[in-house]
Amino acid sequence: MNSRRDFLQKITATAFSIPLVAGISPKSFSSTSLPQENDKVLRVALMGLGSYANRVADAMKDCKRAKITGVISGTPSKIKVWQARFNIPDKNCYNYENFDAIKNNPDIDAVYIITPNALHHPQCLRVAAAGKHVICEKPMSINAKEGREMVEACKKAGVHLLIGYRMHFEANTKEIVRMRSEGELGKIMFFQGLSGFIIGDPSQWRLNRELAGGGAMMDIGIYSINGSRYMVGEDPIWVTAQETKTDPVKFKEGVDETIQFQMGFPSGAVASCLSTYSMNYLDKFYLNGKKGFAEMQPSTGYGPIKSWTHKGRLDLPHVTHQTTQMDEMAGIILDGKVPMIPVDGEEGWKDMVIIDAIFEAVKTGRKVEIKYV
Ligand code: NAD
Repeated sequence: MNSRRDFLQKITATAFSIPLVAGISPKSFSSTSLPQENDKVLRVALMGLGSYANRVADAMKDCKRAKITGVISGTPSKIKVWQARFNIPDKNCYNYENFDAIKNNPDIDAVYIITPNALHHPQCLRVAAAGKHVICEKPMSINAKEGREMVEACKKAGVHLLIGYRMHFEANTKEIVRMRSEGELGKIMFFQGLSGFIIGDPSQWRLNRELAGGGAMMDIGIYSINGSRYMVGEDPIWVTAQETKTDPVKFKEGVDETIQFQMGFPSGAVASCLSTYSMNYLDKFYLNGKKGFAEMQPSTGYGPIKSWTHKGRLDLPHVTHQTTQMDEMAGIILDGKVPMIPVDGEEGWKDMVIIDAIFEAVKTGRKVEIKYV
């Protein structure tokens, strides 16, 4: 299966969206597993119809509890194609100027924000103000302050805020988390996270500080940060970090190319991680405890995830991550289901606190204490 890294290396996200949208007939996108008539289904509007939204939409064909009922886009031609794909009426289509009117639309329960990172914050506040649940892609924001504002806005509006952490529902990941939490690995001592790929087109928004909020760390390094927390089962309390830049033209001021970082956890466990836009084949987690180990490679790509422990291989059956994610998120929103690994706004915010601390550690060269306040 193609990985996200391959896509991003080879083509710009915009270029990718065109052939995908144009090449697929409405029929091939029709739902293959329509929900039962009386099942409660989460009716979702996707905001930002780019490459990842296409992947989510494709995966949602197989969802039993979630379906696409609306779209929000700045490109009218894309809206037309998506309307045909999902049988979306004109009244459920919005642009970035008028989507506050979603408030009065009974066909939409939640908005899934899949736009460039810096837009998540203002868009989330508007969706919350419209009284709709928010599902927001990672990173939830470009700093902890904005992340906190998003959490508070959703709380105030009485709507859910969930972050698109698809790995939290992935079978191998959950089995390793279960083994660790039930003591099968013994006292956890060490985590290693390697997250990276070689990024292509230098003109894409991922390399624009204003839209991306940084570089590799916001986009791919966040997987090692978030992964360290669910694999170790604790939140780090200090970090040290070092940045290297081999291409200052491509990676401008404020856009990180490669950052190595080390984190310490309350139990004494430590983590050593690498985030980069300049190396391929970097998608690996390794967890070491006094009684055993767990290893995943790939650990966060689109799968299949490969994993093994001191007891042998796991390699649990692959299910498209976004299909499981959206069905599980429907369960959280509609039935109050509690996921094994949280995906709420607080969870996303903690990662933003850690990213802020990593950037400070890079800047100062010092060990930075991480405070979740
Ligand atoms: P993309 O560039 O392919 O799509 C972004 C979409 O936002 C495009 O349709 C674009 O038209 C729209 N957009 C709206 N306002 C824009 C503006 N001012 N500038 C540029 N584009 C604008 O990007 P993508 O790969 O789909 O990523 C979108 C989000 O999804 C990011 O936050 C990214 O981190 C996240 N993502 C998550 C995963 C995952 O596995 N969870 C994978 C890929 C991307």
